[in-house]
Amino acid sequence: MNQFERYGNLIVISGPSGVGKSTLVKEVRKVLDDLKFSISCTTRSPRPGEEHGREYYFLAPEEFEAKVQAGEFLEYAGIFARRYGTLKSEVLSRLKAGEQVLLDIDVQGAKQIRAAAEKDPELARSVHFVLIAPPSLASLETRLRGRGSETEEQLQLRLGAAKAELSNYGIYDYIIVNDQLEQAAVELTAVLRSFRFLTKTLKNELFNE
Ligand code: ADP
Ligand code: 5GP
Repeated sequence: MNQFERYGNLIVISGPSGVGKSTLVKEVRKVLDDLKFSISCTTRSPRPGEEHGREYYFLAPEEFEAKVQAGEFLEYAGIFARRYGTLKSEVLSRLKAGEQVLLDIDVQGAKQIRAAAEKDPELARSVHFVLIAPPSLASLETRLRGRGSETEEQLQLRLGAAKAELSNYGIYDYIIVNDQLEQAAVELTAVLRSFRFLTKTLKNELFNE
């Protein structure tokens, strides 16, 4: 038996659309290759190259609502006139198994998970909140336009939400500024790595023989 066996970590990553969350996480996974992505449900349409069951579970609004009614979500939110949610089945058993689970969710979802953790010591033991911020709001617009994935209407919705989202930085434990990608990836890797050494995730009592 490994006496240093641990529960996993639930890493909640938020940041405005276009700040570089997906790009950064891809970099970090090159180093921390055991990070598991929780695949969210969404009612938005897939972007070119996105696949059902890989980036998201793409659901019809009725399918999403059925999961809400069945209590299948750990959290869910309405964002940019679409619905997004994290399935309990993507997260809870993996934490018990000691895995590192990553959620890329918005601030409404992060708040719901914080509230849930206040009532649930098992969740509280494992959860960490990390905000990815742009160096400025102007650079965010440049990146989002550069990605070229949104209509002008969606772009305006996303930029409008960014400022409000960033003003909630106080609910996060960590803030990483994604200015130079390489540097930000090193910083995020360091933060995520540190979670693996916490005493509170140990499963067994130590040195009690
Ligand atoms: P998010 O997942 O947060 O919505 P993306 O990872 O899709 O954002 O990044 C948005 C755009 O910004 C992409 O075109 C990406 O290549 C670019 N990008 C990401 N990080 C940086 C950075 N540090 N500097 C410049 N551009 C970046
Ligand atoms: P996108 O449409 O660009 O993939 O994502 C838009 C926003 O939805 C991002 O801010 C992302 O973090 C958020 N998001 C993705 N999945 C979830 C989820 O399951 N729950 C919540 N609350 N937000 C999510």
